[in-house]
Amino acid sequence: MTPASWQGGGIVAFADLDDTLFQTLRKLPGTDPATLTPMTVNTLGAPHSHATPAQSALLELLSAGHVTLIPVTGRDAQAMRRVTLSFRSWQVMDHGLTILTPDGRPDPAWATQVAAHLRPLQAALHAGTAAIAAHAAQTGARLTRHAAHGLPFMTVLKHPDADPLVLADLQDRWEAAHGPDSPLRVIANANNVSLLPRHLGKAAAVRYLLGEHLRGAALTLGLGDSVSDLGFMNECDFAVTPRRGQLMRTLRSLTLPQR
Ligand SMILES: [Mg+2]
Repeated sequence: MTPASWQGGGIVAFADLDDTLFQTLRKLPGTDPATLTPMTVNTLGAPHSHATPAQSALLELLSAGHVTLIPVTGRDAQAMRRVTLSFRSWQVMDHGLTILTPDGRPDPAWATQVAAHLRPLQAALHAGTAAIAAHAAQTGARLTRHAAHGLPFMTVLKHPDADPLVLADLQDRWEAAHGPDSPLRVIANANNVSLLPRHLGKAAAVRYLLGEHLRGAALTLGLGDSVSDLGFMNECDFAVTPRRGQLMRTLRSLTLPQR
């Protein structure tokens, strides 16, 4: 679909990818591999993440002609190329900091907004990264810096064995230093902990697309597995979340008031 062909009235599905539409075999213990569909390849080109039969059926539903499927992912362009599913419309990558047009080019207006937002955050991001680097190295965690539009926007800590105690410790240290008033926030999953802008992310990107390019959708769906997906799912009419995901696990642990 090209921007010109969008006339409103359609269904738009904004979908996180990893652990929502597919996951690695490590997250599928006891599953018969013959029932799975390969969805991504690793850096060597071998199948890496897979869709379960339910995820494949969901994807089939979302691939119908009248649904515009838009990935909303933390993956960067390089990691996105390892996803075998092809997307025909807009794409949100880099946790929302990059939006690709249906032609596959970075949306220039969004890139300008993002760069203006990122410049004043550089000092805080640099300080937050520097403050944890030595401790992270001692624990064996690997630190990587990610950039969008030529500007650093995120620091990721990954532990080679995904040791939950090490990752929780790193998360606690970063969260203690970045309270609600900080322009940066911490997001975490089972594999890594990341420091990134608090007010610019997947939710802002989805809001931008709905406001500027996809006005008048009859129905918007938000699909995501993580607590950090909640913001963009909240921009949509309905939210869809996998049973085994972080978000659903968190919801189950809460006592929800019935009023
Ligand atoms: Mg996910």
